[in-house]
Amino acid sequence: MLSSNSGFQRLSQAAMSRSRFLRLAAGALLPFVGLRPSAAAAPNPELAQNSGAPGTKDAAAPGRMGAILVSRFGPVKIHSYLSPADGFHVNTQMIEGPTAVVIFDGQLQLPYADEVASHVQALGKPVDRIILSHAHTDHWSGLQVLTERFPDARVFALDGIADQLHARGQARLDSFRPIYGDRIATKVTVPTEIIAEGVQRIDGITYDFKRFIDAESDLQLAALLPEQKMLMAFDLVFSPNEHAFTVVDHFEHWMIVLESLKALQGYDIITIGHDTPVLRSAIDSTITYVKRAKEIHAASADAKTYSESLKAAFPDRQQAGWVDFSAGILYAARR
Ligand SMILES: [Zn+2]
Repeated sequence: MLSSNSGFQRLSQAAMSRSRFLRLAAGALLPFVGLRPSAAAAPNPELAQNSGAPGTKDAAAPGRMGAILVSRFGPVKIHSYLSPADGFHVNTQMIEGPTAVVIFDGQLQLPYADEVASHVQALGKPVDRIILSHAHTDHWSGLQVLTERFPDARVFALDGIADQLHARGQARLDSFRPIYGDRIATKVTVPTEIIAEGVQRIDGITYDFKRFIDAESDLQLAALLPEQKMLMAFDLVFSPNEHAFTVVDHFEHWMIVLESLKALQGYDIITIGHDTPVLRSAIDSTITYVKRAKEIHAASADAKTYSESLKAAFPDRQQAGWVDFSAGILYAARR
């Protein structure tokens, strides 16, 4: 697909210079194409907008609303679909191996999941499986579309995720429907298979799956791809350009989880749940953010105070609306 070029050009105004990025890629012995880490990057308001940067073309998919970055590692390609802002900049990762595709996460809005499906279909390889990283609605609502478009693909998640979706999935869809209408799923897609922790090979690609509790969500998958030197951190790590979601009071343990990610050596590129890939320094900036959020939460009696204080503490981060969204849930859950 030609989307790698357009993706790179679209995102080329990020602060990390192309030459620095290529040095990093070369250092990791990776023939990278198009994946542009954004740690320490400047605010990037045009990110994932349909218009793209001036002069760019998306020959592969005219009219596509999201952005797709493609990185190549020999026979393996990682396609990262990034939704527009009204889809929370959620990423769907498509790991294209020699004979099949593995999809991670399914988008919030159905039209964006549909764009993911169309991109995968154009690759001409069957979907081996779909893997859900955690039970937040912005990552699974669109599984409805993906399972319709790829009816043979089994849906995997960590043990416990299916129970969470059975218990709360429909209520979460109902809470989104007033905002998004028919762009949100009508039914909960519950994973039917449990993904085991540890190392396994899928289509010749080595994955090391890890299970984390009590961080951004109660239960979160991360995946190491040691041959590609890539960490798929999902919502454990956030971009330094954007606010993080803080919907549960797990600040202290989230920081412990982040320290454990920091201890992993050899993973220089991190794909995340929202926004473009980041460098390792994003782990530190996420720790800084979570620490400050914890302090503000302890000092704030209500959602409005929390939200205003957190936004004031990080005025350069984009997506201030995510702070209001988080504060509403964080304080509603307070006993
Ligand atoms: Zn998320």
